[in-house]
Amino acid sequence: MRSIIIGGGVAGCAIAAALRGVSGMHDSMMIEKRAANDPAGMGFILMPNGLAALDAIAPEFDWRSAGRCIDRVTLCTHDGVALSDTTIDPAVCVSREKFLRMLRESASDTTTLEGASFEGLERSSNGSTTAVRLEDGARVEGDLFFGCDGARSKVRTTLFPHALLAPVAVMEIVSIAEAPALAARLGTNFRKFHDAEGGFAIGLLAESATRVVWFVQFDALRWTLANASAETLSSFIRERIAYWASEVTEAFNATDFTKSHLWPTRDLAPLASLACENLALVGDAAHACLPFTSQGANGALVDAMILRDELSAVCNDADVCRAFARYSTQRRPHHQRMFMEGRRLRAAFLAPLTQQHPVLPLIA
Ligand SMILES: Cc1cc2nc3c(=O)[nH]c(=O)nc-3n(C[C@H](O)[C@H](O)[C@H](O)COP(=O)(O)OP(=O)(O)OC[C@H]3O[C@@H](n4cnc5c(N)ncnc54)[C@H](O)[C@@H]3O)c2cc1C
Repeated sequence: MRSIIIGGGVAGCAIAAALRGVSGMHDSMMIEKRAANDPAGMGFILMPNGLAALDAIAPEFDWRSAGRCIDRVTLCTHDGVALSDTTIDPAVCVSREKFLRMLRESASDTTTLEGASFEGLERSSNGSTTAVRLEDGARVEGDLFFGCDGARSKVRTTLFPHALLAPVAVMEIVSIAEAPALAARLGTNFRKFHDAEGGFAIGLLAESATRVVWFVQFDALRWTLANASAETLSSFIRERIAYWASEVTEAFNATDFTKSHLWPTRDLAPLASLACENLALVGDAAHACLPFTSQGANGALVDAMILRDELSAVCNDADVCRAFARYSTQRRPHHQRMFMEGRRLRAAFLAPLTQQHPVLPLIA
């Protein structure tokens, strides 16, 4: 059977890697709109559920040594006074670029069309998808399809036009500092600093011996940035961190802001179904969640593992539809929980510290 994977981010590569273990999937193609060698993104945390999924779908790598172990989370006031210190099950902070390179290696049996953008679906009268249309007019036929095109998924919009991303309440700036001394001091500790008024926080975690991933989350209703230029991002942050802990200043002083990204964080109310006949939505396309859960990439990896298991015994088109329906039933409760947890953590983030102590920004 021929699989067509739309989107070559974490979800798309994880599906491509997972399909290697499925008999009868003789041919797969991934369609990715970004050009080859156009890496982007900074880093994220591989949580125990994501690591377990990786062990299942791509066991050739030791994923725990792909980045830096994180086993403690310290939540602090802006000037570094610890409010809580929690030991967590070991997680791994990885560079998105390095992580995707490894996952692509696991997916190397899959042909990838890079710089090709999905435009629409061709569907038969019973709702099954028969082919995808690309922006350049080409069409690609297949037997089963995976919509892995991220939070602003065009595949999802085609299938479920009423499923819209929620408005932006929190923006996030993500970057990396080349700061070996700070990375050594942080060690395996994820430190997050909170403004007393709420709605503004900074997280720091080491991704290697020399690099520190940092992010700034802020209330989008209180602050609107004119643009995402390096100068705007840098001066917005610097105006706010004069009396913050020295680690924070150290991270920003070691940052090239031209490589920083500004993300609008948006979630998606749980869909009634994650599949439509022979097409399954995977990763953010199925369940975009708020960053407070740290479950975006991890959820995509678990989706891929479950799909691999569900597809293991398929012989024909009807089996594929049944496997995708089971995947949908199995994953929906998890997505509902992530949606609710993301909203709960966001409300805690927006509240002043006098009303609400910061809560752990990770959901297992
Ligand atoms: C460029 C980028 C950088 C990121 N950086 C970070 C980060 O630093 N930290 C973090 O926590 N999360 C980051 N994320 C988000 C995180 O990777 C995802 O939330 C999570 O991994 C879920 O993965 P996904 O594959 O579902 O979605 P994504 O990772 O968003 O992947 C979707 C893929 O589909 C492709 N695509 C979109 N539309 C089309 C189309 N029409 N045709 C073909 N392909 C299409 C995109 O180019 C992308 O490669 C980033 C996402 C992207 C796209």
